Amino acid sequence: MAYLGNPGKTIEVLERYHFVFQKRFGQNFLIDANILEKIVAGAGVTGEDCVLEIGPGIGTMTQYLAEHAREVIAVEIDKALIPILQDTLSGYDNVTVINDDILKVDVNRLVQTKNNGRPIKVVANLPYYITTPIIMGLFESGVPLDSITIMVQREVADRMQVGPGTKDYGALSLAVQFYASPEVLMYVPATCFMPRPNVGSAVIRLVRYSNPPVQVKDEKWMFRLIRAAFNQRRKTLANSIGNAGICGITREHVQEALGRLGLAENIRGEALTLEQFAALADCLMR
Ligand code: SAM
Repeated sequence: MAYLGNPGKTIEVLERYHFVFQKRFGQNFLIDANILEKIVAGAGVTGEDCVLEIGPGIGTMTQYLAEHAREVIAVEIDKALIPILQDTLSGYDNVTVINDDILKVDVNRLVQTKNNGRPIKVVANLPYYITTPIIMGLFESGVPLDSITIMVQREVADRMQVGPGTKDYGALSLAVQFYASPEVLMYVPATCFMPRPNVGSAVIRLVRYSNPPVQVKDEKWMFRLIRAAFNQRRKTLANSIGNAGICGITREHVQEALGRLGLAENIRGEALTLEQFAALADCLMR
């Protein structure tokens, strides 16, 4: 029975192991059972599922996941947490803890060995300092995925959902919306964590599309252009991409392609839809 997910038990475990929080690892542990239950329900975890948890901390959400999933793989970077996880997860025989940096783990291979290559669900209260590389890494490496349900900084959750013409629209919005359908499930106050983060938090669910909503000849190429387009946000799209020096593409090449697509040559990246970026990438294909 999951017994973590409240302040009393969390403090007891932390004190027993003389645990010292590492700010550099983005350690804010959940202490609210109600939120934990809602995350696991929102992720739609069932007894069929193999779940990847990134950053189990002291194993709080892991306990809830282990009770609902067939199998849980939890990847934790902080080796001081490993003996704690062995203790808090000792009652579950369906959890594997891996002491590693998620950005260095070959998740494709994990999915092959643990789930015969079938899609997994990712559920996590993410370390906020590496939210974007984690999400982009999972999508771009083609890991078989059903969905990603994650706690992130509130602004980042908003950024994943917005469309063109808003200040938060950027490379992350386009990547998320190319690969998945995003939905914010809830906003979570700082009082639900120990220690309390000094930013707002939100749980967002990204359900992977079986087919992307737009056609593009080479998605990696498109995202290279998209990154260049938003690297210099305040410049025109033609200048940003022209300055990036990608495969000899000049400002004039971009202006000419924009003209062919019926777009103004001084347009900014933030005004283009995903469809328009896809068309531009095809036009500029090298
Ligand atoms: N899941 C726990 C909870 O909800 O109480 C802890 C969440 S805490 C926000 C983030 C966790 O990710 C910490 O345990 C931290 O040590 C771990 N972490 C940070 N960077 C990591 C990385 N690169 N790879 C794996 N785990 C990481």
